[in-house]
Amino acid sequence: MNVLIINAGSSSLKYQMFDMKTEEVVAKGICERIGIDGHLKHTPISNGKPVFDEDITLPTHSEAITAVLDKLTGAEHGVVASLSEIGAVGHRVLHGGQSFSESVLIDDAVIKAINDNIPLGPLHNPANLMGINACLSAMPGVPQVAVFDTAFHQTMPEKAFIYAIPYSYYEKYNVRRYGFHGTSHRYVSAEAVKMLGGKAEGTRVITCHLGNGSSIAAVRDGKCVDTSMGMTPLEGLPMGTRSGSIDPAIIEFVANHEGLTREEVFDVLNKKSGVLGISGVSSDFRDIESAAADPSHPLSRRSQLALDVFRYNVAKYIGSYMAALGGADAIVFTAGLGENSAELREAVTDQLRGLGVTIDRDKNKARGKLLDITGEGSTVRVFIIPTNEELVIARDTKSIVEA
Ligand code: ADP
Repeated sequence: MNVLIINAGSSSLKYQMFDMKTEEVVAKGICERIGIDGHLKHTPISNGKPVFDEDITLPTHSEAITAVLDKLTGAEHGVVASLSEIGAVGHRVLHGGQSFSESVLIDDAVIKAINDNIPLGPLHNPANLMGINACLSAMPGVPQVAVFDTAFHQTMPEKAFIYAIPYSYYEKYNVRRYGFHGTSHRYVSAEAVKMLGGKAEGTRVITCHLGNGSSIAAVRDGKCVDTSMGMTPLEGLPMGTRSGSIDPAIIEFVANHEGLTREEVFDVLNKKSGVLGISGVSSDFRDIESAAADPSHPLSRRSQLALDVFRYNVAKYIGSYMAALGGADAIVFTAGLGENSAELREAVTDQLRGLGVTIDRDKNKARGKLLDITGEGSTVRVFIIPTNEELVIARDTKSIVEA
């Protein structure tokens, strides 16, 4: 069965199509600038046909889906002969609120629930719904599955998800910690369990998804018990452009002193903070690492400070999750930065030396591949595990459709 995976954003739509017999990606691509003008890059993988990379008019997500399906089935760039060869569609959906603890087949009730959760995911859920609706009308009768970023974290106990604010806000508006990147944390924690011997019961794993957006999860017996992102993806670690956790009083202080509205302050916290805000250089860790390493760069010191703040916070979260789990059997590094930055892994684990964590510095030079980098005598195993959220969505979609 071919399964098409859709990740719809407000002005973009990413896709990958998997052949589930082999779990290989047969084609992938991205529509950008939807609603502005439009661009589609489509890459056939299974048959060596040429890449399509052109501006095309994409007024809405509907035209984007139509263009994607045309390319997947067309003679020049296609990988299948007709739409009938696409057996199911899997959608990445940001916020499942308290409604979903696992992936589900999409029907009217599921669409209503995703819609009801828009107040919790106002930036993403409307775009996810546009992607779902566009597919439902372009491919009637093809089963569609929703896979939620929040679902894996629904096993957190109340003491981990309740904020210390009036309880009525939870009762009235569902204000609580939800957590995100759940598909990634679920995948890499399951891979870690395999590396620990295969039985989830009794395992304590800390998963660090460190990319543009970053979050850490504490996983006991294969189930999430705590995570660093909150009601929204703004809480927790400092990120590329997001502040992560700050003193909430700063919001009013900055609004008053800079003459900003509430919305403007949140825009600063989402888009102009994190390592970009500290370094003044970039949100991309590669740029910051090279500026920090170049003493003649005017923002070299601030770049090093941004890296130090980020790495220190990663280590602090890992330490706190060792407390939450009563120790740890494994720490996992994943996503763009976690998989690729040896400097980051070294700095973080150096900070954790007092807790018995060491890595093998030679093995740590690896990037982007599954590896056990545990140091001699370390009481906690340390793994690099490349994440694969799309594959998880494809597997969930296949198993739900076939059930
Ligand atoms: P997203 O959250 O957008 O999915 P990714 O997981 O792809 O992000 O991570 C992207 C980030 O990973 C980049 O912004 C960059 O900071 C970091 N990154 C990727 N490769 C490297 C590398 N070789 N060294 C350091 N950082 C890297």
